Amino acid sequence: MIVMKFGGSSIANAERIQNVVNIIRLNMGREPVVVVSALGGITDSLIKSAELAVEGKEDEEICRIEKKHLAVISSLGMPDPGVKEDIRELRTLMKDIAVIGKLTQKTLDRAVSFGERMSSKIIAAYMQKIGITAKAYNAYDIGMLTDSCFGGADILPRAYGLIAKAMENIIGTVPVITGYIGMDKNGDITTLGRGGSDYTASIIGAALDAEEIQIWTDVDGIMTADPKIVKSAKNIMEVSYDEATELALLGAKVLHPKTILPAINKNIPVRILNTFNPGHRGTVVLKDIKKRKRIASITCKKRMTVINIYGTKMSLAREFIDTVFSVIDGLGFSVDIISASDSSVSITIDGDRDTNELVQKLREKASVAVIENRAKISLVGKNMAFTPEQLGKLSSSLSDIRIEMAPSGTSDISQSFVVEEKVADEAVIKLHKKFFGR
Ligand code: ASP
Ligand code: MG
Repeated sequence: MIVMKFGGSSIANAERIQNVVNIIRLNMGREPVVVVSALGGITDSLIKSAELAVEGKEDEEICRIEKKHLAVISSLGMPDPGVKEDIRELRTLMKDIAVIGKLTQKTLDRAVSFGERMSSKIIAAYMQKIGITAKAYNAYDIGMLTDSCFGGADILPRAYGLIAKAMENIIGTVPVITGYIGMDKNGDITTLGRGGSDYTASIIGAALDAEEIQIWTDVDGIMTADPKIVKSAKNIMEVSYDEATELALLGAKVLHPKTILPAINKNIPVRILNTFNPGHRGTVVLKDIKKRKRIASITCKKRMTVINIYGTKMSLAREFIDTVFSVIDGLGFSVDIISASDSSVSITIDGDRDTNELVQKLREKASVAVIENRAKISLVGKNMAFTPEQLGKLSSSLSDIRIEMAPSGTSDISQSFVVEEKVADEAVIKLHKKFFGR
C-alpha cells in the first residue's frame, strides 16, 4: 500500500486533475490511498473571504470560489458531487462571521476546511467517472483526532490507532482523503497549519504501515537550490530524514517540516515527485543515505528580521539567554538563534510578523537593535561542521557580498548566515557555483 498526496498546484484545474488521476491509475497495483490539498489558490481565497466577512464583504470572493469549483466540475463533464451544498454551508458560516463581526482562529479553521472537503469530492467523483472505484473521506471521519491548537493543530497519539481501525474496512476502493484538516475531541474542525497536507499524508502512511509515502508536487523533488534563483540547480536523488526536516525548516518549500516525523517512527521512505514530470525519479527521503562528499543543498529564507539583543546588566550568559528566550517564547515567536556570545544574542524572526511588542518587551531587559529586510542563507548537508576549506570556499565565493553574521549552525546538518535581502539571490548563485560547480 502506498500513500499518494497531491498538492494544490497539481490539481488547480480540470486538466491537471485528469493528469493526477492518470498518475493514480498507473499506480493501482500498489493499492494507493490518496490525500489531496484544496484546489490551487483556494485556501488563500477562503482565508480572504473569511476576513472580508467580518465586514460583510465576502460575497465576491465566495462567488469566485464557487465559480472555480463549478467550472472544474463542468470541464470534467460530471454532475456536482456535493460542492453546491458545501458552498451553501460556507455562505451560512460567512454570514455568521458577519453578524458576530469577529473572526476567531477556530472559525477560520472551519472556513478553510471547505477547500479540501470540496477537492476530495471532485477527485473521487472523477475517478469514479473513469472507472476507478473511489470514495471521498473527510480525514476527521476516519480518525484524524487533533489537539485544539486551531491554525496549527497536532494529532493526538491515539489517532494512529483510530485511523488504522477506520481504514480496515475500506477494501477495493481508493480512498481520497482531505489533507490539512482534523478535528479535536470537542468535534471542532482544526487545521494542521499551512501546507499541512504533507503531514496528513505521512500520518496516514505511518498509521497504515505504507511501503512508501509519495508527496506529489510541482518540482522534481528536492533541489540543490531554489530553481527560481539558480537556473542550473539539480535534483538531489536522496536525502536523509534529518536533512529533509532541516531543509523544510530552513525554507525549502517542498515539504511541510512535520512530514518526516511519522515516517521516521516507522522507517517509511518519503518520495517527492513531480506531477508535471511524472517520469522523473524525484527525491527519496530515507533513514540512511550513501555518504555525501559535499553539501546537499543551499536554502534561502527571505523577509527576515534580525534582532540583536545586548545584555546590559546581566553578565551570566546562560541566565541572559534564558530570559531572552522566555520573552520570545511567551509571544509565540519561533526561536531561531543565529549567534550568541557572553553578552549578546542575535536572532532571526519571520519579517511578516509584527515585532513591535517583542522589541518593546526585550527593551525592558536589554538594549535592542532591529535590522529589517534580511535573508538567511543556509548550507545544508549531513556532517556540515565547517572545515577551514569550506569556510575558505564560502568567503572566496562571496568576496563582494557582506556577510552580516558569521556562519553558525544549530546542528551538524546546517550552517546559516545573514545577508541583506537584495543581494541574497546573487549570493545563492555564487555559492551554488562554488559548491556545485554550476
Ligand atoms: N490547502 C492547504 C494550504 O494551502 C494545505 C496544503 O496545501 O497542504 O496551506
Ligand atoms: Mg505543499
